[in-house]
Amino acid sequence: MTENIKRAEIRVDVQHAIELITDIFKAKSCNDNEAKTIAERLAGSNLVGHDSHGIARVPRYVEWMEKGWVFPNLKPEIVIDAGAMGCLDAKQGFGQVAGEYAVDDGILRAKKHGVSVVGLRNSGHLGRIGDWAERAADADLISFHFVNVRGSLLVAPFGGSDRRGSTSPLAIGIPSKDKDHIILDMATSTVAEGKVMVAQKGGKQLPHGALIDSTGKLTTNPEAMYGKIRDDEVPNPDKGTGAITAFGLHKGSGINFMMEMLGGALTGNGVCGALNEKERRKFSNGMLSIYIEVEKMVDFDYFRKEVKSYADFVRASKPSQNNDKVLIPGDKEISTKEERLKFGLPVPPLVWENIKQTANKLNVENLERFENAIK
Ligand code: NAD
Repeated sequence: MTENIKRAEIRVDVQHAIELITDIFKAKSCNDNEAKTIAERLAGSNLVGHDSHGIARVPRYVEWMEKGWVFPNLKPEIVIDAGAMGCLDAKQGFGQVAGEYAVDDGILRAKKHGVSVVGLRNSGHLGRIGDWAERAADADLISFHFVNVRGSLLVAPFGGSDRRGSTSPLAIGIPSKDKDHIILDMATSTVAEGKVMVAQKGGKQLPHGALIDSTGKLTTNPEAMYGKIRDDEVPNPDKGTGAITAFGLHKGSGINFMMEMLGGALTGNGVCGALNEKERRKFSNGMLSIYIEVEKMVDFDYFRKEVKSYADFVRASKPSQNNDKVLIPGDKEISTKEERLKFGLPVPPLVWENIKQTANKLNVENLERFENAIK
């Protein structure tokens, strides 16, 4: 496939994509509810512009089920139940489901105590972490989510050139009673690994300095992460010798380190990797979440007014060169969602084809729906 065709893009209808992906996970024996939850959260991530954590992940999730890294139809177990503190063990069940249980547990505890701290360990991929901050904000709670990715060594620390960290995301949610919550949601690497995967499949190219190759040179070529691969192959970071850089120089690299302490060591999930271990740790997300009930601290209307006036103050900053607008966390996701609900999800054709191949392999019926979904 030439680079030009690879970089073309199709638009896919969200509801059609959800139905097809639900069928794929049902074919892998997920119950109806779980299959739909996975499909909705993946497509939901595309909707807000995080294609890295969207439907492009389907072939990889199926591969992970086949490798025994994630299991269908599991309900997380509450392993610590101590008032404002709790911890759930997802036992390698799907993160889309485990995340909902963990956040709902945190909401219940915070509503009772004003604040809560809830760990989640051994979770399948939790997807877009902003989803969890949004769920807490819908319940009028501020929340912080510190996440690590056990077994996923992808990130070079500041000053280093090989993989010692995970892309360990951080999300912070500020609720608004009007539901226009403010959500900061970011990998603590320069880009999320999924962005490298999407770039490899012909999607948006990577920013300068996103990757470092094994010689210590900065690059934007996804080959540094996956080596040379065929179009029908699932990109596998084990096949590359380079790394993603930690964001924000030494300070960002420090925050990336702390994610392993909070999301990894403290939750009982375990950090992403260690010296002298023969076997790589099994993949799982660990998430430490803190929830705060606004009204226990200040009047909600006062809070809301202060939040809004500061957001407007920042947005009113004079744009710098080559910038037409100043945004606050979450603005981009809100405008992207409006546009994509109207015009569909932009998907590299190769990503759509790979999902179709996965469906075909699992004998999902009526594959012509893949063509019908294209707007
Ligand atoms: P990103 O760089 O696109 O956005 C990061 C944050 O910056 C967002 O809050 C966004 O609103 C804000 N932002 C974007 N453009 C802006 C601008 N011009 N001005 C001001 N603010 C702006 O996101 P990312 O770091 O690539 O992360 C992508 C997704 O990957 C996230 O949803 C994250 O949760 C997810 N992730 C998940 C895992 C996992 O293991 N589950 C690991 C890593 C990342």
